[in-house]
Amino acid sequence: MGAMPLAMPTATPSDKSIAPMGRSYESARASMTASDYPPSWYAASATPLPPQPALHGNVRADVCVLGAGYTGLSAALELAEAGYRVVVLEAERIGWGASGRNGGQAIAGFGCGEARLEALVGLADARRMFDLSREGMAWLRARIDRHAIDCHWRDGHAQVPLKPRQVRELQAAGEHLRERYNYPVQWWDRERTASQLDSPLYLGALYDPLSGHLHPLQYALGLGRAAMQAGVVVHEQSRVTSLRCGTRQVLVTDSGQVDCDFVVLAGNALLQGIAPELESRMMPVGTYIAATRPLGAERAHALICNDMAVADTNWALDYFRLSHDHRLLFGGRASYSALPPPDLRGTLTRRMRKVFPQLADVDMEYVWGGSIDISLNRAPHWGALSPQVFFAQGFSGHGVVATGLAGKLIAEAIQGQAERLDLFARIPHRPFPGGRALRTPLMVAAMAWYRLRDAMG
Ligand SMILES: Cc1cc2nc3c(=O)[nH]c(=O)nc-3n(C[C@H](O)[C@H](O)[C@H](O)COP(=O)(O)OP(=O)(O)OC[C@H]3O[C@@H](n4cnc5c(N)ncnc54)[C@H](O)[C@@H]3O)c2cc1C
Repeated sequence: MGAMPLAMPTATPSDKSIAPMGRSYESARASMTASDYPPSWYAASATPLPPQPALHGNVRADVCVLGAGYTGLSAALELAEAGYRVVVLEAERIGWGASGRNGGQAIAGFGCGEARLEALVGLADARRMFDLSREGMAWLRARIDRHAIDCHWRDGHAQVPLKPRQVRELQAAGEHLRERYNYPVQWWDRERTASQLDSPLYLGALYDPLSGHLHPLQYALGLGRAAMQAGVVVHEQSRVTSLRCGTRQVLVTDSGQVDCDFVVLAGNALLQGIAPELESRMMPVGTYIAATRPLGAERAHALICNDMAVADTNWALDYFRLSHDHRLLFGGRASYSALPPPDLRGTLTRRMRKVFPQLADVDMEYVWGGSIDISLNRAPHWGALSPQVFFAQGFSGHGVVATGLAGKLIAEAIQGQAERLDLFARIPHRPFPGGRALRTPLMVAAMAWYRLRDAMG
């Protein structure tokens, strides 16, 4: 299934209400208190967890997890339930990164799509991976139920084409998924699509009844709560500044250190200065979402009758869904800088009104952003740096479901069952060309080509 947004570069920020999003967020933090989340509709509507104390002094653990997003928390929860002593070190707060800011579209598959995965690893392994992603979906749904996570799950996801070429591509992708992967996607013609989605733009839809959407920060906080109830110790405001590897592994923060047998690196797009071999194979890309004011149940459901999540199939895509309080959440702009593009609120409002001209009187109440972690081939980059140090990154805008799977497979590997993680570790990954300094300009040039392709028929 397709990936989330990738688009064009950036300039200086012009909208002061936009949340800081990437690695260079320190300057923007000046306006936040230590325990704040970046402002977003998610932060405004979530039920917060009590702050967890920062790490002080020396601590021993079986496993230390860096990062309290979906990946780190999923691994921590699985391991604590298996009896391991687990400590999570989080630089900010639980769910502060992409896990607390994303579009909430919980989609089967991986960011690179099935055809790319087949080219990388062959059909048999690509099928095993897709089946595992379905297991990831089942894991996510089971966790929501078991821990009573109030994250407003809704069924259904549609990929929608804007051009005849995209209709042909989506129909072929649907057939491919049904025939080779036994996955029950449905092709909807223009009329059927219009009966559920009141937009003049779309020529049909590839509807996936098993994917869906949720409140991402509530889900992250629910995972955090479940992990702590299972015995995981979480230290917030505890940025790892270095990792020393040997017979024992040591993760150091400004005020303490954790000495452990195994490490899980789950810092994703915000990880910096800890594992250069991971950073060189991942590019952080800023992407943005906005939320309208509440539209009222009737007006909201007139837009998307069946409450599914929607994403178009452009490279620089628009994606949207309704919230449980009847707002439209609309994502669709990206940048290669840690700073938001100029007039983001205006751009997102214009894009939303192109999709739904009937919202001409509706403005955005919240605008925020975050960083997605793309790998060069958009395929998942999961594995081990040594027999003791595990990682997962490269979700490429497609991480709500895949992160939980990655955490589970890392937990299995730490327990001595590495076969399923090894399947993913075999995916070849190259560093971004040009190294740190040049990868952004080269990516911008590549993206310009894809944007041109979006604009063509
Ligand atoms: C705006 C946006 C929209 C998106 N939309 C979707 C979508 O609709 N569907 C979808 O499937 N995916 C989407 N994604 C992608 C998805 O959100 C991510 O793939 C997923 O959340 C990654 O989870 P994670 O746990 O790996 O990383 P994160 O959630 O980013 O967590 C990493 C954590 O590590 C911490 N950290 C980093 N460095 C350190 C350090 N040195 N010490 C301690 N802690 C550290 C960070 O503070 C952070 O909390 C979107 C992403 C963004 C940003």
